[in-house]
Amino acid sequence: MAQTHDDLNAKAFSLQPGYDETLVRAEFAELMPLRTVIIYCFDPRASGIPDAVARDLGDVWPGEAVTDAGGEIIGTTTSVLNVVVAGGRALDALRSITVAQHLLGVENIAVVHHTHCGATSYTAEGIVKAWQEEQGVDISETYPRESLCISDYVASVEHDARLIRNAPGTPRHVNVHGYVYDIDNGELTRILEDRGTA
Ligand SMILES: [Zn+2]
Repeated sequence: MAQTHDDLNAKAFSLQPGYDETLVRAEFAELMPLRTVIIYCFDPRASGIPDAVARDLGDVWPGEAVTDAGGEIIGTTTSVLNVVVAGGRALDALRSITVAQHLLGVENIAVVHHTHCGATSYTAEGIVKAWQEEQGVDISETYPRESLCISDYVASVEHDARLIRNAPGTPRHVNVHGYVYDIDNGELTRILEDRGTA
């Protein structure tokens, strides 16, 4: 049977009696040893990316669930969180970076674009024009042009690394890593490493 509105809200941390935000944050940070946020494409062919990046950065992925004495899953041993978005473009990931830092603490952010990506199959002008014709809606000012598609793999990774670095919601201490992943052979090519400030 479906749960009621109250049943569902009984599982919301901020609605608990005596809720203490500072305490809840500290508990969250203990439940997952997060080091690295990986931003990559929602294309199913790109699903090997977390594995490849974790190997390169020495992360634990996929890790294992951690259970308490009662068998409830209360944590994980993985040190990776994934943000899976169209083209692996960083614009869609900025809010997630802020939340990951707030709850768990982040050391590395990896932005990864991949070969044969659908984001290289159209242009910014093309998607704006098609949206106007097919949906009758003008999205020309909705998204920055340079984040709409990919026209040059190195330039797009460099752009996204700069976007992450300059975002107010990115902690200054994080290292930003840029890669291109070859979906034919699983090879990861490093484009850049931008070390954070202590
Ligand atoms: Zn893609």
